[in-house]
Amino acid sequence: MDEQVQLACACGWETRGTSDEVFQSALEHGRRLHNMEVTREQVEQMSKPIKR
Ligand SMILES: [Zn+2]
Repeated sequence: MDEQVQLACACGWETRGTSDEVFQSALEHGRRLHNMEVTREQVEQMSKPIKR
């Protein structure tokens, strides 16, 4: 079972999902809105597990 995580960007954008999904979303978000390439490591450091 994949753990769900959430990620909040400094601009207020948020996403959640598995770490793979969050990474893909963050990569696209960074490219589109911030003209910036994020690494998997950065995304993992910024994301938090969702407790259920
Ligand atoms: Zn952002």
